[in-house]
Amino acid sequence: MNIKANDPSLKSWLEVPENSDFPIQNIPFGIFKYEDDEPRTATRIGDHVIDLSALADFGYFDKLGIEDLSVFYQPVLNDIFAFGKPMMCKVRNRLSDLFEAGNEELKNDHEARNNAIFKIEEVKMMMPVQVGDYTDFYSSEEHATNVGTMFRDPDNALLPNWKHIPVGYHGRSSSIVVSETNIHRPKGQTLPPDTDKPVFGPTKLMDFELEMAFVTCRETPLGENIPVDEAEDAIIGLVLFNDLSARDIQKWEYVPLGPFLAKNFGSVISPWIVTLDAFEPFRVEGPKQDPPVLPYLKFEGRKNFDINLEVYLQAENQPEHRVCLSNFKYMYWNMAQQLAHQSVNGCNIRVGDMYASGTISGPTPESYGSMLELSWKGTKPIVMPDGSQRKFINDNDTIIMRGFAEKDGVRVGFGESKTKILPAL
Ligand code: MN
Repeated sequence: MNIKANDPSLKSWLEVPENSDFPIQNIPFGIFKYEDDEPRTATRIGDHVIDLSALADFGYFDKLGIEDLSVFYQPVLNDIFAFGKPMMCKVRNRLSDLFEAGNEELKNDHEARNNAIFKIEEVKMMMPVQVGDYTDFYSSEEHATNVGTMFRDPDNALLPNWKHIPVGYHGRSSSIVVSETNIHRPKGQTLPPDTDKPVFGPTKLMDFELEMAFVTCRETPLGENIPVDEAEDAIIGLVLFNDLSARDIQKWEYVPLGPFLAKNFGSVISPWIVTLDAFEPFRVEGPKQDPPVLPYLKFEGRKNFDINLEVYLQAENQPEHRVCLSNFKYMYWNMAQQLAHQSVNGCNIRVGDMYASGTISGPTPESYGSMLELSWKGTKPIVMPDGSQRKFINDNDTIIMRGFAEKDGVRVGFGESKTKILPAL
């Protein structure tokens, strides 16, 4: 697919710092708030946040064929995404044109520029979509193998269904929050080691899970399914997703129905939805799927994406320390298969749903996407810059996730998902 806005030779008349995740080839979508104004729709180039409602006001979207421009004034992106991918591609190409170095249309329109362009430090980023439903998959073979090895049996680490089904569970959408939202350590029931009676209190095994999530832009009626070869048409874009997890609560509660209170006290996303279109140049083959999957999960072409993923821990008043370097390309099950599977039984899909990948672990120990795996259940503590050790997350530690793809001198990324773990209330 050849998308004009992805052209690596494009430059913007807006300044883009070196190593920015937001060159003119990105054009993500987000929601920002300036002072006491209502939240509004935006894109970002370099460290500039561009108010799409102001561009609509000044007529810059008049020729796109959008009947109702009021969608650009809404506090979430759901109604814009409901236009579907071809229109979103037109919007992204139009934004690319307006900010391209040779185009003076907006560059010389000082009134529009003054109204539309903000500095990132001046604004607060908000939740980009109203998340209707949220699913968390379990699609990294290395992660599932590591967890199966630690909790069950190293010889049968993967359960018999794992290579046939993109395993997942329905999570809770209400507690998905945007980066810079801090989360209190949750309290709950746990079973202390070598006892048979549960206790109640703050989790002792606070963890993150490095994940990506995709957002849907298509609504299907109950009973209909999205075939695997149409699934990417229903995916508008991606965010970084930190699925905070309380391992001791999880261990006690998760049999037989799966994760519950160990996972629903907060999941933290990056604020910009980077379009699947922007990641088009970064497609790669995924791992070979063996045994062969059932026909409804068979796909053609390259459905994995080469996106570098990093996790940093930062203790109070200390420097950041990278604890994980992974990549989205390691996923065994791809997004098209996940969405095809999610809907194959007729489960309806809505605009703004979020589907998280599951923890993304790679083949090497530094690529493991959770503290559970990085410290191997606490047996291999991580040494922080101040000499202190971490088996899991301490109070007042900040977890920062970053992700970007890079090729032909173009880097397309997410910025970050950042959250501080506050003491239990
Ligand atoms: Mn998860």
